[in-house]
Amino acid sequence: MNYKPFVTGGCTEFAKYGVYPKSVRALGDSTVFMANAGDADVLVCVGKSALEGKTRCGVTVAECDHKSAGFLRANFPFTAPVPVLSYPRTVGVGDRLGIAGPGHLRVFEKYDALPVLAQQSIRELNLTHRTYKDVLDAATFAVYREGFEKGFGADGDHLKKPEDVEYALGLGFTMITLDCSEHIKGDGSSVECPEYEERYLSKTFDVGEGLKLTFSKEELAKIVYIYGEAIDFAASIYDRFFKEGGAKADFEISIDETATPTTPLQHFFVANELTRRGVKIATIAPRFCGEFQKGVDYIGDLQQFDAEMHDHARIARHFGYKISVHSGSDKFSVFPSVGRNTNGVFHVKTAGTNWLEAMRVVAVHDPALYREIHAYALEAFAEASTYYHVTTDLTKIPDLATLSDAELPALFTQNDARQLIHITYGLILSDPRFHNRLYTFWRKYADEYAAAVESHIGHHLQALGVPERS
Ligand SMILES: [Zn+2]
Repeated sequence: MNYKPFVTGGCTEFAKYGVYPKSVRALGDSTVFMANAGDADVLVCVGKSALEGKTRCGVTVAECDHKSAGFLRANFPFTAPVPVLSYPRTVGVGDRLGIAGPGHLRVFEKYDALPVLAQQSIRELNLTHRTYKDVLDAATFAVYREGFEKGFGADGDHLKKPEDVEYALGLGFTMITLDCSEHIKGDGSSVECPEYEERYLSKTFDVGEGLKLTFSKEELAKIVYIYGEAIDFAASIYDRFFKEGGAKADFEISIDETATPTTPLQHFFVANELTRRGVKIATIAPRFCGEFQKGVDYIGDLQQFDAEMHDHARIARHFGYKISVHSGSDKFSVFPSVGRNTNGVFHVKTAGTNWLEAMRVVAVHDPALYREIHAYALEAFAEASTYYHVTTDLTKIPDLATLSDAELPALFTQNDARQLIHITYGLILSDPRFHNRLYTFWRKYADEYAAAVESHIGHHLQALGVPERS
């Protein structure tokens, strides 16, 4: 890292600090910057300021806590999240560890897309023992440290309850992903409703670009049964929080966590009903055909995916929002189709892949620690797999006793080993044997980790067809 030693006046106690060069900024007559103080980063102000911390020799040093993050957001507006979904290319890069920011930001300095840096579901918060405050503050410090002024979003991801929406918006989150799955019913029944029949039967809906949709009586009754309540739920949340005068935040409707894929006809119906009720959305996340399992490439029929993505994208353009692709980590084989069919206007969410990169760096630089964690993950797998749908075959993972240290990193090219580590992250991080050792390790290897994240997420943007900034 590019540290300059920081010494002021007669105070030698600051000599060990390494200043992050891109963080040095004037604030009135004072200078503010972030520095590496060894065990942790600190926020420093030379001169008078409202920064609360320990002051000596005219220098105030504050911990990187919620108060300091608030200080940055108040004084340097680029460190506060903003709604970014109206930008053509946006990518959610949830950071479960709170340390992936610098690597992510290097990607978005290079490629012309905007990041949603804070992006966690309540489940992820519980598994990592973090709060939305922690998540947002980590993003603010990363953005300030790296001097990233292009703007970033903060997504309360997969929220299911009004109180969670209220909590995230209250903290300044700029995107809400409403998970409607608890209000979406499975296949197998139907509801006949004269009001809907009048609106949808014996009509052709011209979506444009050659796509015309018609509903049969049976199809309509099924769709009303599956999505009727979810639409009511989404509209009630919109009316409560977003309607005129409400939150200035992007609203995403997620219907992806369902048992069966969203057909284009179902997608159209949901969008059409929401529009009719005045609900303005930035994105819809349908459930696509095939499987989007954690940490591995797409599993399914690429031709079918391409054809359905074409329909979904045309429907989204017709109504004026973007398609959102969830569980987008490592889905390299479908990215070209996403980029092409959406005309380069999309939102893609990745999350766990930066955790896998963090563990790959462990495998490279601390093989002994990796071996311990791997052994624990094998024990913890059964419990973790109750949270995730994965088809991991543990018998395909080589016995670590047969591998040399140099062979460990190659485990991260093997799908079963990837998923083993991917889905056990919450249990690994919660285990007192590993938590502090891991964070100490990642602090020491921060440059290696940033480079790994930059390269891996960079490949995602490349495959999506995101142009490099000129
Ligand atoms: Zn999702």
